[in-house]
Amino acid sequence: MSLSNSIKDKDLASHLHPFTNLARHQDVGPFVIERGEGIYVFDDQGRRYIEAMSGLWSAGLGFGEKRLVHAATRQLEKLPYYHSFTHKAHAPAIELASKLAELAPGNLNHVHFTNSGSEANDTVVKMVWYINNALGRPQKKKFLARQHGYHGSTVASASLTGLPASHRDFDLPAIPVRHLTAPYFYRFGLPGETEMEFSARLARQLEDTILAEGPETIAAFIGEPLIAAGGVIPAPAGYWSYVQDLCRRYDILLVADEIITAFGRLGTMFGSEYYGFQPDIMVLSKQLTSSYQPLAAIVISDALNEVLVENSGKIGTFAHGFTTTGHPVATAVALENIAIIEERGLVAHARDLGERLQAGLRQFSSHPLVGDVRGAGLVSGVELVADKHTKAAFERRGDLGAYVFRRAHEHGLIIRSIYDTIAFCPPLITTDEQLDVLLDAFSRTLDDAAKWVETEGLK
Ligand code: PMP
Repeated sequence: MSLSNSIKDKDLASHLHPFTNLARHQDVGPFVIERGEGIYVFDDQGRRYIEAMSGLWSAGLGFGEKRLVHAATRQLEKLPYYHSFTHKAHAPAIELASKLAELAPGNLNHVHFTNSGSEANDTVVKMVWYINNALGRPQKKKFLARQHGYHGSTVASASLTGLPASHRDFDLPAIPVRHLTAPYFYRFGLPGETEMEFSARLARQLEDTILAEGPETIAAFIGEPLIAAGGVIPAPAGYWSYVQDLCRRYDILLVADEIITAFGRLGTMFGSEYYGFQPDIMVLSKQLTSSYQPLAAIVISDALNEVLVENSGKIGTFAHGFTTTGHPVATAVALENIAIIEERGLVAHARDLGERLQAGLRQFSSHPLVGDVRGAGLVSGVELVADKHTKAAFERRGDLGAYVFRRAHEHGLIIRSIYDTIAFCPPLITTDEQLDVLLDAFSRTLDDAAKWVETEGLK
């Protein structure tokens, strides 16, 4: 048996260790994707799917952008690798840092590269601690984050993540962090409460937490402008301006984890721009290279950079970095990726297409299974419930979502189920016609789901 024929063989695939239910993975074997083209991917049986999640919220330019391939091969031929230790650099990293400084709002002008979003958030934690030590405030070390937030899988970033499965049996959190209530208006808004009132209530909770812990112990607040992996939770009206004001008042750094929301995803270049706040630190990845290469970037303000520079002068080095920090191929691909986004006006396209996506999904609001349709720009979530009037969730949480996830494949659609919330995050290059096909495939999936709920007697 050749490798390609046997690749789905579950014994062979059991050597591979993905982020999933490992027991199920060993049981059924993986769903093997073989190639990509535009917004589509093809499985090993040649079946075509609309990739309505851009992979992991990341392949903004889809799966067949030749200019990114050429940028990578050109760089591989010229300088396939070099590092950035001991005062070395290369053109793609220098140019990309300068491009990101130009794009990032306010005085966010200094860039540190890592390979993944998780490493970037771990780096943020270390930088913030280093800065507060340098400033002579060694007590100011705690992070504030939110339940439902996702910040990664490494030790510090998974500690910041507010999802129980990221902590359980991993002995996390391992850093000082307090998780606040998620700004999840559909679930946590009180009857009769407006979004503004809900945001004001969360702001009071935030201030109470700061005062109870002591502002002199809180270093930073980290949040995704729109919570994505934790259930597609857009910020309610007023939320970010309350958070920003409190951070300023108590001298707490505001970190925007823009790993999903940057580069047009919400119809603006950055998610913080969409919500109208100015972070002190911004973390970027995913759509930075459309994930054709692993790369993340931390963009920090002039003021913070000054402290880093001065302190590392004192110590003799800034002892943090990786073998492949600012990898030349990854940074060359990122430059080309951003050039394409700009040339093709994809941020404006995402804004227009996002309005069509949100409106298209809102049409399903009257469907008996649909409790809530929410999102911003090209990220959307449809929460399925057992009783749309009481908002009661299904007793066996996630079973219906898992059915919808599998069933959508039959209709040529890849979405993601987060328990019973169905997530959409299509590539920025999706056309209006393709969006119509996507919505039609989802409509048919939802009808199948209603029948399945009946026959299974799901409650
Ligand atoms: N932060 C956010 C907001 C993310 O969505 C992700 C990835 N889903 C990460 C951090 C972690 O990035 P990575 O998987 O590249 O480590």
